[in-house]
Amino acid sequence: MRAKHARNDNNKKPERNGLFAGFGARIARSLFFWGLAAVLASSAYTGIVRIAREQPRQQEDTEAIAVAGPVLEDPAERKRVALTFDDGPHPVYTEELLDGLKERGVKATFFVVGENIPGNEDLIRRMDEEGHLIGNHTYNHVKISDMSKADACEQIEKTSALIRELTGKDTEFVRPPFGEWNKELECSFVMIPVLWDVDPKDWTTNNVSDVVRRVLEDTKNGDIILLHDYYRSSVQAALQIVDSLQGQGYEFVTVDELILE
Ligand SMILES: [Zn+2]
Repeated sequence: MRAKHARNDNNKKPERNGLFAGFGARIARSLFFWGLAAVLASSAYTGIVRIAREQPRQQEDTEAIAVAGPVLEDPAERKRVALTFDDGPHPVYTEELLDGLKERGVKATFFVVGENIPGNEDLIRRMDEEGHLIGNHTYNHVKISDMSKADACEQIEKTSALIRELTGKDTEFVRPPFGEWNKELECSFVMIPVLWDVDPKDWTTNNVSDVVRRVLEDTKNGDIILLHDYYRSSVQAALQIVDSLQGQGYEFVTVDELILE
């Protein structure tokens, strides 16, 4: 609005010449006029600039509101869970599981035990190639909280080194065996401990439908499900769980997608 007023005032100024008379006065009038014009022009310019500056900001705000709608609604509508498998790789069952997950287009997270890797290197490479996330479950399946920091770090680093050799990637996600983590533990590499929400205790039974039922009863949006790819019954249960949850509209993601958001 300041710009509009300035322009009107500017038009009126030349008519108000009664204050000045004679040649000197003409110069004075002229100086006065151009001085005033400069001041008014500069204030008009400031006003225009201010409006120009505000204009895009208002547009941005409008756009942000328009974009924010669907982005905010989306996560609530999408149901996501993460399947995690501990204690592998197993030469037979892990392979069966990878086949079943591939058929269903599902990505999972594998917390592998370092000492199970030699002889199963192809399975580790395959997990990585097929888009699964590989995490660390220590080298000898040890209780981290019972160990010295140096030993605990060695257990994790040794497993990570093997995985890095096979995939070229660092493993940052650690699932502590028995769920016992030492919060004070600091090693020279990044570690993100990952526990779970749903535990069907699949290792206590070989009854597939029991494991399936326990998981389906407990699972809700955003959950991390704990299973073990070291048992045939667990692998069979896992694939039935996938079929059932996919039927309910669940999407399977790797744990990093649930944890890092
Ligand atoms: Zn374990």
